[in-house]
Parts: sequence; structure tokens; C-alpha cells
Amino acid sequence: MADDVTALAARVSEVVGDRADAWDRSGELPGPVLRELASGGLLCPQVPSRYGGRGLDSREGGELTAHVGSLCSSVRSVMTSQQMVAGSVERLGNEDQRDRYLPLLTCGRIAAAAFSEPGAGSDLSAMATTIRAEGDTVVVDGRKSWITTSAYADVLLVFGRFGDAAAAVVVPADAPGVTVERISDPLGCRAAGHADITFDGVRVSADAVLGGGGLPLPFLVTAALAHGRMSVAWGCVGILRACLSEATRHARTREQFGVPIARHQLVARHLAEIYTAEQIATRACEHASGRWEAGSPDMVTATVLAKHVSATHAVSGASAALQVLASAGARDGHTVARAHRDARMMEIIEGSSEMCTLLLADHALATAD
Ligand SMILES: Cc1cc2nc3c(=O)[nH]c(=O)nc-3n(C[C@H](O)[C@H](O)[C@H](O)COP(=O)(O)OP(=O)(O)OC[C@H]3O[C@@H](n4cnc5c(N)ncnc54)[C@H](O)[C@@H]3O)c2cc1C
Repeated sequence: MADDVTALAARVSEVVGDRADAWDRSGELPGPVLRELASGGLLCPQVPSRYGGRGLDSREGGELTAHVGSLCSSVRSVMTSQQMVAGSVERLGNEDQRDRYLPLLTCGRIAAAAFSEPGAGSDLSAMATTIRAEGDTVVVDGRKSWITTSAYADVLLVFGRFGDAAAAVVVPADAPGVTVERISDPLGCRAAGHADITFDGVRVSADAVLGGGGLPLPFLVTAALAHGRMSVAWGCVGILRACLSEATRHARTREQFGVPIARHQLVARHLAEIYTAEQIATRACEHASGRWEAGSPDMVTATVLAKHVSATHAVSGASAALQVLASAGARDGHTVARAHRDARMMEIIEGSSEMCTLLLADHALATAD
């Protein structure tokens, strides 16, 4: 890690400490912890310094995200939401909007990105939320499902239909007509503040519509999701690093049949599997970050590949780690049990494994000889 990333990672470790399991059990991240991370620009570290951000490049931001993911996937999920909103404002907003919103996101405000709806999960083209222009305001109506971070959020980036096209609009979470209902007992990332949200005639200024709106929905969604996918991919690297550390430590010290279990070749095979998973996920993420830094046209595909590879390997790696720990890891409150549940969520979000597979198949069909 570069020196400044190491220093930022140390700061996150100080703030998070050893509390991830307690937060997982309570299903709640303390407000002061989120404010502390957000006000240091640590939740969206790639925002340029002129907006109060840390100005990390994709790989540096990824390494920091992996570090957060190794400590606590709920905090990393909040980081993914914040990075997705910041990245969308940077990419889709005009200069006034960048000046207005990015400093908020680097100085303590929390943000969530709302795409999914009861009838639009994998198929976001079925999105029914409307953003309707009325004079110098827009009116938002619709329902969003499973929005990570929204239970803590100050602002919501809402995607919806805008006439014949689409738009993303920044809505204050306390605006009249916004109702946020917390999802209880999620399987993983339990403290990430998932909620369903209803927008009932919510009126905001028209200059809150990023770039003025009117873009094709697939373009808008792909641009925003790319940030989320990179963040999830690096977060999965963090899950794998935590699993590798826990599994090797246990295999060196736990003795059965008179020797450390690491000496049993079937256990060693699990360790090799976790190590291989971590290395493959890291290389896929490094490759994708390299494409982002180069501004390469294939960065979207490299990002889908990184997300898919990292999520599937996080699931298999966490499962192998649980097998090595056996009863020692088979309870709530253990890092590996938490990793096992959190990793499983990563195969569902930001494009499920099936949707990523279809996108990669399309790419193969379009490009292979
Ligand atoms: C922990 C968590 C956090 C989330 N955070 C957010 C968030 O911050 N913002 C947000 O907008 N949304 C969020 N979501 C919602 C998430 O994006 C959706 O759950 C996801 O897109 C899948 O949609 P769905 O759950 O409706 O499943 P469905 O779309 O109903 O799919 C069900 C199953 O069918 C498969 N499937 C569907 N269509 C096809 C097809 N054509 N071919 C093959 N298989 C198919 C899917 O892969 C899946 O396995 C979150 C969800 C979870 C669980």
C-alpha cells in the first residue's frame, strides 16, 4: 500500500477497532463512527482534493476499501453507497452540482443510492419511479427496495423515469413525502442500514437533477453501478484477506491427532483454496483499477469481471475458512461466520452473479474471434 493509504487504513482501524462483531449483532453502526469516517473523507476517498476528498486513484481507493472490508463489511457497504453517490455526482453532475454535493460527502454527510424497486431488481428497465418536471422543481413518486445505508443517510440519490428518458436526483432524506422503513434482520452486512423507501409527491429543486436529466436509463444505471461494483469487488478482497488470516492462524495452533491441523493435507488444501481465491480476486481488481486509471473503454467489462470473480471467490473462500475453523467459527460473533454471511450478499447485489455472467457472455460473443 502507498504511504498515504497505509495512514488512512490505520485511521479506519482506530475508528472501527474490534467492534465489527458487536455492530453485526446489534444491526446498528453508531452515528459518531459514521460521522467520523465521513468527515475525514474516508467513505469516498477517491473524491479529488479540491472538493475536500483524499484524491486516491482507483487502486489506492480499492486497497483502502479492501482494508475496510477486512474489518467490517457493514462499514464497507456504507462506503460503497457513499462512493457510488460521489462517483455519480462527479460523472453525471454539472460543475455547480459537483461544487454543491461533493464537499458535503467529504465532510460528514452520509448518502445512499436507490435503484431497486419491488418490481425492478435484476431488470432495472422495469423501474417505475417517476421524476416529473414542474416549473423550477421536480416531483418524485415511487418505491425503492433494500437501499443500503438509507437508514443512516442524509441524502438519497434516486434513479427514475424522466419523461421518455431517465434521471438521477439528489433528495434530502428528511424531505416531506420520504418514508424510510428499516429492513429487520438481513442475512448479511447486518449493520449496513438497509431500508425500503417510499417517495410520495416529494418536491425538490430542479437543479438537484444530475446534469439536468434526460439520459437513457441503461447509460445512467451503468455509469452509477460501475462505482458500486468496483467497491464491492475490492470489499470482497478484504473479506478473503480476513478469512485467510483467521484460517491460517487457527490451522497453525489447533491440534488434532497430535499435530497442528495445518499438517493434515485436506486442511492444507482448504488453506490453498482461500489463498488462491484471495490472489485471483486481487488480480481481477487490480486489472479493473488499471483500466479505470487508463480511462480505457473496456473498464466497464473489467469492472463486471472483477465484481463477479471477487464475489464468487469470497463465497467459496469464506466457506473454506469456516470448514477449517469448524466449531470454533460456527457461531455469531466470529469473524469467519460473519464473512460467510456477508460474502453471500455480494453475489446478489450490484448485479447478481447470474446478471454478471450474462454481461460477460455478451462481451465474449461480441469480441471473441
Ligand atoms: C444486502 C443487499 C443490499 C442491497 N443494496 C441496494 C442498494 O444500495 N441500492 C439498490 O438500489 N438496491 C440494493 N439492493 C437490491 C439489489 O440490487 C437486488 O436485490 C438485486 O438487483 C437482485 O434483485 P432481486 O432481489 O429483486 O432479485 P430478482 O431480480 O427477482 O432475481 C431473483 C433471482 O433470479 C435471477 N435472475 C433474474 N433475472 C435473470 C435472468 N434474466 N437470467 C438469469 N437469472 C436471472 C437473479 O440472478 C436471482 O438469482 C440490495 C440487496 C441486498 C440483498
